[in-house]
Amino acid sequence: NAKRIGSNNFQFFTVDLSAKIQARLALQGQLRLAVEREEFVLHYQPQVDLCSGRIVGVEALIRWNHPELGLVPPGQFIGLAEETGLIVPIGAWVIRTACAQSKAWERQGLGSFRMAVNVSVRQFAQPDLVEYIAAVLAETGLEPQSLEIELTESLVMNDVDRSIDILQRLKAIGLQMSIDDFGTGYSSLAYLKRFPIDLLKIDQAFVRDIETSSDDAAIVKTIISMAHSLGIRVIAEGVETEAQCNFLRLNMCDEIQGYFFSRPVDAARIGELLAQDQRLADHLLRFKRTKR
Ligand code: C2E
Ligand code: MG
Ligand code: MG
Ligand code: MG
Repeated sequence: NAKRIGSNNFQFFTVDLSAKIQARLALQGQLRLAVEREEFVLHYQPQVDLCSGRIVGVEALIRWNHPELGLVPPGQFIGLAEETGLIVPIGAWVIRTACAQSKAWERQGLGSFRMAVNVSVRQFAQPDLVEYIAAVLAETGLEPQSLEIELTESLVMNDVDRSIDILQRLKAIGLQMSIDDFGTGYSSLAYLKRFPIDLLKIDQAFVRDIETSSDDAAIVKTIISMAHSLGIRVIAEGVETEAQCNFLRLNMCDEIQGYFFSRPVDAARIGELLAQDQRLADHLLRFKRTKR
């Protein structure tokens, strides 16, 4: 009897496994089509300066606009895109679209801010990445310093010397470079000085319990002061509460990004937020002038 159950289980297991493989292959096929049809959309999340209260950057975050499933978050397809190499054309689309959008907002007088784009391992390894980005900038007319490339800590730590070489070439065309999800990898802070980076993004895992965990609070304070001593600005990710915001402000963090200020939203909504931000800044400038 036990043997029978065992073999049945084995059958279930193989059926289940092949169903999974089928589902994966189907998803892969759909993703391939999605690339051809450009079934993607970018949402944007503001990055706010803690001194001025102004939006100084936005991060472009991809969603797959699936014909049946609706908006699929990146966590559900970036991994597959990376494994299949589809991340290369997808990533190219992201860079093109984000730069064109940023230039369009600039033309509408919505101020100057950084457009941050996530670049994954496979893309980073493309020998023509630097040339591709340079061509997109030339085509869209976006200033290189308006484009920020986000690379995760684990990506750059994968092969430090090679990463430094590519980072330097990206820096040489005038881009802003940032390290994403900082604190989750195994790099010591001392490594930071070897990387030509402008910004460091503290991972949301450290921000979450900033008020209750003295360890996390200490880690965040240390990251901020070490980064500052190296001339690197710091952004805290995943800031959801006023208390987290206050802690970060008190501890000299430069910028915040998170639900506390805004969730990632579509281009139309970010356009409104940028316009609002610009109106207030213009108003304060006039106010200062008349007061003098
Ligand atoms: P990431 O680059 O670290 O982006 C931040 C993620 O945190 C985003 O998730 C964002 O929606 C989420 N987030 C922002 N504020 C808060 C908050 O206050 N609380 C919480 N709980 N979450 C917050 P999203 O959009 O689902 O993206 C997930 C990851 O997918 C990104 O992490 C990035 O690694 C990857 N990704 C997104 N877009 C792209 C892309 O165009 N290319 C590549 N290669 N990867 C991308
Ligand atoms: Mg990011
Ligand atoms: Mg991050
Ligand atoms: Mg992340």
